[in-house]
Amino acid sequence: MGKGLVILVILVILATLGIARSAPLRATVPIAAVVCSATDTELTLEFRSSGEPIEKYQRAEVVGNQIVVRIVDAVIPETPPSASCVDNLSIKAEQIREFAVFRIHAPAYDGDITVKRLSPTSIALVVNKTSASARTSAPAISTAAPSASKKWKLDVIVIDAGHGGKDAGAKGVNGVYEKTVTLALAQRLRDLIVHNLPGTKVVMTRDNDTFVELHRRTKIANNANGKLFVSIHCNSMPTIPHPARGCETYILRPGRNEDAARVAATENASIALEQAQSTYTGLTEEELIVATMAQRSFVRFSEAFASLVQQHAPRYTGLKNRGVNQAGFLVLVGASMPNILFETAFLSNPDDARIISSKEGQEQMAQAMLQAIKDYAELYQSTLDN
Ligand SMILES: [Zn+2]
Repeated sequence: MGKGLVILVILVILATLGIARSAPLRATVPIAAVVCSATDTELTLEFRSSGEPIEKYQRAEVVGNQIVVRIVDAVIPETPPSASCVDNLSIKAEQIREFAVFRIHAPAYDGDITVKRLSPTSIALVVNKTSASARTSAPAISTAAPSASKKWKLDVIVIDAGHGGKDAGAKGVNGVYEKTVTLALAQRLRDLIVHNLPGTKVVMTRDNDTFVELHRRTKIANNANGKLFVSIHCNSMPTIPHPARGCETYILRPGRNEDAARVAATENASIALEQAQSTYTGLTEEELIVATMAQRSFVRFSEAFASLVQQHAPRYTGLKNRGVNQAGFLVLVGASMPNILFETAFLSNPDDARIISSKEGQEQMAQAMLQAIKDYAELYQSTLDN
């Protein structure tokens, strides 16, 4: 690793973790106050906006000895709201991307947990006193969830062609750009889905050579009510040509190894090209853990789809199978649906690059992804039926 490269890697890591840790501008509803009240049997914490409607909130979850409440598209004001009405109550407020996150520690109350809407501008967390049934670390309750059928029907698939416009992504040994390959794959996959899975709507985060910010990609997916988010990329090593080769699929979780962290740092570096970098609060390990908690309800679907992709892609293309891995990808944070990031092949490897930039190789890869989606749809349906 040369000196220049070391500096580049450091810059990428800084860009990934440290850039502009100020409050995001995208989230718009300030959570102005927390109102605390308690009875002999329950503790109620009411989260109030400063007047704007609170659109969405997520399941309350128990993490260690804390209860975590997340309000979507909301901001923690400069002076975070707090409240106290019982002994030893602690409320920590934190901004994580578009989530206003509250971590509550109320040692005297560790029974059942509910989050409910009190008015358009307020939601309440209600915690009972210790109940007979021991609390588990499982999600306590699903809130604001659409009805089961609406939630689970695999009717909208979001395809995300990585990079685009001024963000070319990796450059291959053969001179091809990642953004070109990902768009070709995404468009072919879309056409295949439209022809083979009638009734399934496909939403593209981009359909031409334009730059789309990472957070906007998940926003597009969430707004479209996507049921599956597929982010398509190409892998690359810092030195070219490089022997590393094959396809691998990532799910959003704190990285397991150095290699996964490298891939995440490379993909996340796209944010350095974004104008409003203050929309990111960064992604420390702890923040990533909280962000991935929001995905707990569908992480097993993400895993299932990831392994189907890895099952079919090597078979269809002849590429090496590098398996399913996990790391902190900004483009997946905040996706309210099962999601994966697929590194189709290494552009830094001559054989991989030739396959993935050829028309034939792209056709095989798109067919493999279609097959994975078909299998997934079946699995998904059988889960529903049970
Ligand atoms: Zn990429």
